[in-house]
Amino acid sequence: MRELVCIVCPRGCHMKADDDLNVSGNLCPRGAAYAKAELTHPTRVVTSTVRLTGGTYPRCPVKTSAPIPKDRVADLMAALNGVEAAAPVHVGDVLVKDILSTGADLVVTREITEA
Ligand code: SF4
Repeated sequence: MRELVCIVCPRGCHMKADDDLNVSGNLCPRGAAYAKAELTHPTRVVTSTVRLTGGTYPRCPVKTSAPIPKDRVADLMAALNGVEAAAPVHVGDVLVKDILSTGADLVVTREITEA
């Protein structure tokens, strides 16, 4: 039996799932779907920063445009060390398309002007 907290909405239902992925404790079907996905193929949207040149800040906040497999998060964080953006940057700018062949793009999450 595995215990999970649903993160789909702020209610945060405490759920239990057995080995056959029968889920209990969820107040709606979205919780069961989340639990099954989390136990079979966990994914995460990754947020971080990359180096920025010529801007009013030294680093640029970024995120993946879609969830990526949880077991690729460490590889992604290592890859970000080699990414550098140049100001100005705008929310939604794609810095790396299909990063690490995950199907997700690396996108900017903050407006930063030139220094
Ligand atoms: S199971 Fe439904 S109600 Fe409960 S936290 Fe998840 S999404 Fe919200």
